[in-house]
Amino acid sequence: MARLANKIVLITGAGSGIGQSTAVLFAREGATVIVNDLEAAKGDETVRLIEEAGGKAICLAADVTDPEQVAGMVETIKSKYGRIDVLFNNAGISGVGMLHEIDPEAWDRVMKVNIRGVFVPSKYVLPLMMEQRGGSIINMSSCIAEIGLARRASYSATKGAVLALTKSMQVDYAPYNIRVNALLPGTILTPFVEKYLSESYDDPEEAYASLKTRQLSGDLGRPADVAQAALFLASDESKFMMGSPLYIDGGVVFG
Ligand code: NAD
Repeated sequence: MARLANKIVLITGAGSGIGQSTAVLFAREGATVIVNDLEAAKGDETVRLIEEAGGKAICLAADVTDPEQVAGMVETIKSKYGRIDVLFNNAGISGVGMLHEIDPEAWDRVMKVNIRGVFVPSKYVLPLMMEQRGGSIINMSSCIAEIGLARRASYSATKGAVLALTKSMQVDYAPYNIRVNALLPGTILTPFVEKYLSESYDDPEEAYASLKTRQLSGDLGRPADVAQAALFLASDESKFMMGSPLYIDGGVVFG
């Protein structure tokens, strides 16, 4: 039996990296996947990959920070499918620099996408889940919420906030049978990390090698590693997990 049979799933930022890998895995496990991304072309590519593998998906482009766009997206899903069983708040952007170097506009942008971008989709999906009396929300935090990493001040602040928000949401919505958990990945090789390495270091190869030495696993993670953890949180197999941080970090937090 497919692990997400008959589930309607919305994944934000699913046009690339972890979101794309998760969308493909969820569809393989029987879910109908609504692929959201800011960039329609990237979302369309994820839908193409899913359909090629025989799965079901549609792309709805929207900016997760924009209430009007998100409300419209949720309305479309509601009228087409009648429910949303899983919301994966995955969309996020990077922020690099020591605090004194960070441009205030750049600071606001990271806060906006990474925190407001969790708040807004949750705000519009929750009433539907409350009506259904059930659902699973997965928020994308990061292991950086728990360990210090150089030149990541703004980004780490957002991921700590997402972890705190997850716990607060869980308390409020537990009476509606809604579970809210957080993923805390370590460094996962995606376009996001490749950009960070090339922008932050003179020698990205050396930076990559030094990141690897922080891992007990000896290597960085891959999007599929996080997708498997998201699958567990999305499925009923994790029904006793509520407000939990789930680490997928190759041992970087505890190593
Ligand atoms: P990625 O850049 O490959 O993908 C992110 C996607 O989000 C992109 O397709 C982008 O277009 C989309 N997006 C950005 N802003 C958006 C917006 N306002 N509205 C809708 N979509 C938007 O990144 P990734 O590495 O797959 O990261 C996904 C998530 O995982 C992020 O929240 C990131 O912070 C988190 N994360 C990544 C790592 C890592 O090492 N890659 C580690 C921990 C946490």
